[in-house]
Order: sequence, then C-alpha cells, then structure tokens
Amino acid sequence: MQTVYDTDNIFAKILRGEIPNHTVYEDDKTLAFMDVMPQARGHVLVVPKTAAVELSDLPLDYAQAVLATAQKVMAAQRQVLKRSGIVQMQLNGAQAGQSVFHYHLHLIPSNVHELGRH
Ligand code: ADP
Repeated sequence: MQTVYDTDNIFAKILRGEIPNHTVYEDDKTLAFMDVMPQARGHVLVVPKTAAVELSDLPLDYAQAVLATAQKVMAAQRQVLKRSGIVQMQLNGAQAGQSVFHYHLHLIPSNVHELGRH
C-alpha cells in the first residue's frame, strides 16, 4: 500500500539542501549522514533520494542502493570506531516508533560488551 508522503518532512528538506547535515556518503540514489541525536557514537542514517515513507513504499532499485550504501558506511564505521558490531534498525509506521516519515535505515555501532560506555 502506498503511504502518503509529506514533502515537508525533515529528511526531504535535507535532501533538497534546505537544512544542514553532516554527510558521510552520497551517490545518485542515496544520502548517508550523521544522526543528530545519536544512540551511539558514529550513528549514521541512510536515506533514499525518492519519496518513500517506509519500506513498503521503497522501489527495489532504491532498496538495493540503500543496502549498498549501508555496506560502505558499515565498513567505514568499523574502520574508524574499531568496533565489530553494527545494529541495523529501521522503523515502519508511527506505531513502530517512526518519527520522521521518509524511509531511513539506522546504522548504529554497538558492542554489547561495552554497554553504557558509548
Ligand atoms: P525515532 O525518532 O523513534 O528514533 P525514527 O526511526 O523515525 O524514529 O528516527 C528518526 C531519527 O532521525 C532519530 O534518530 C533522530 O535523531 C534523527 N533526526 C531527526 N532530525 C534529524 C536531523 N535534522 N538530522 C539528522 N538526524 C535527525
């Protein structure tokens, strides 16, 4: 089911260059940038450059591009942070806790052996 997309959402504004962001990677189909309220050091968000609210709206070529970007970001996170664990999280719908209604994939460096020491 296609979900109604609000072009005023904050990630749409970031994609249009109307709001600043800390970009770590960009290509023709995706943008990856630092989360402004990181759950851990190095928390990155990957967004597709298409109007998709959640996973069910995401065209498969963009889904593939998001995952390809995620693999690049993960490699950089591991190299920089010297942590082997990365949590991939993605919320679909307000009931699931989604607060920005443009599809985004969280990549959160994590080490369960260092909990509370981020
Ligand atoms: P939740 O807010 O419950 O984590 P989401 O999966 O929708 O649900 O996550 C939205 C994410 O967007 C949050 O991690 C939040 O910190 C981040 N965020 C909100 N505004 C910005 C912004 N301007 N730049 C970067 N990240 C942002």
